[in-house]
Amino acid sequence: MALAQEKAAGLGRLAAEAARVLGCGDAGMEAAEAVIRAGLLRLGGSMLEQLLAADHGHRGPRVPCGRGHEAVFTGYRDKSSGTVLGLVTLTRAWYHCAACGHGLAPRDAELGLAGTSMSPGLAAMNDRAAAAGPFARAASLLGDLAGVRLTAKRVERAAESSGAALAGAGRDRARLIAARKLVPLPPSPLPDKLYAVIDGTGVPMTSKETAGREGKGEDGRARTREVKLAVFFTQDKLDEDGYPVRDRDSTSVIATFEPASVFAGLVRAEGIRRGADHVRQFTIIGDGAAWICYPDLGVTDLVPVTWLSRWCPGGAGGTAVRVMRSGIVIVFALRVSVTMTRVARRS
Ligand SMILES: [Zn+2]
Repeated sequence: MALAQEKAAGLGRLAAEAARVLGCGDAGMEAAEAVIRAGLLRLGGSMLEQLLAADHGHRGPRVPCGRGHEAVFTGYRDKSSGTVLGLVTLTRAWYHCAACGHGLAPRDAELGLAGTSMSPGLAAMNDRAAAAGPFARAASLLGDLAGVRLTAKRVERAAESSGAALAGAGRDRARLIAARKLVPLPPSPLPDKLYAVIDGTGVPMTSKETAGREGKGEDGRARTREVKLAVFFTQDKLDEDGYPVRDRDSTSVIATFEPASVFAGLVRAEGIRRGADHVRQFTIIGDGAAWICYPDLGVTDLVPVTWLSRWCPGGAGGTAVRVMRSGIVIVFALRVSVTMTRVARRS
């Protein structure tokens, strides 16, 4: 009740200030919008802070530390977190594990704030902005569109950490799928054919990112790192000129800076996930680079397979090339490699 009264008084003051700037000439409307938004964010932030203060996160004298020991309550500590409503400070119970030598607050984990100074809502917003362009631009977008002030460095750190968490979860899932411990349902409706285009390309890097890596240039310094990419898609229909058209929303992408062996596992898992075991034909399109060809890829037991590059060891003897409108070169194999035939027979 006190909270509601206090907020009502705050709203009254905000309305008075907005009315004042609204009357200040041509830019009055924009100024009033800015004043009201900033004021509402402030009010919202303090409302959230007071709601959070209702639970100080005391969970008894001891809690599990997460590594098999018990952590002991030592007192209360403050933690400040960025939220979509601005900076919010939370006071919560702190526990210390003598065996691990570090502390934890159960309340942080409950709120999704463990090990981070950004609320889940702000982190999600930050991820969207950071995915749209350079970090400095993302920071300025967040300021302009959401009224949230973050430095480019903070945007970068949070986005990197979300990216790492997402990649880790994806990697775990891929490992289970590739090992057939997790069996995804086949796509429905099942496409007749599935395609995967695989390639690698150099991505320009700052010198910090390429430190210790060998480059192709005369000074031996690396200026790029190779990103390996696989694009999975289906194209069940033809356009009026008889060219295949990629099915809308059928594209999924795998990308990693990691070595071919790791990439191969991700591709294999994605192939399985996309129904490579069930389609009539799974086609891999590559330029014949050694790491794409054989044998690291590990997708060759996903049958039936048509191997399309004549540069691959034991690959197709005759090939036909068709260039699609999108610029993708499709190499049609006239004779399937010995390896592939053997694998295909197993089915
Ligand atoms: Zn411990």
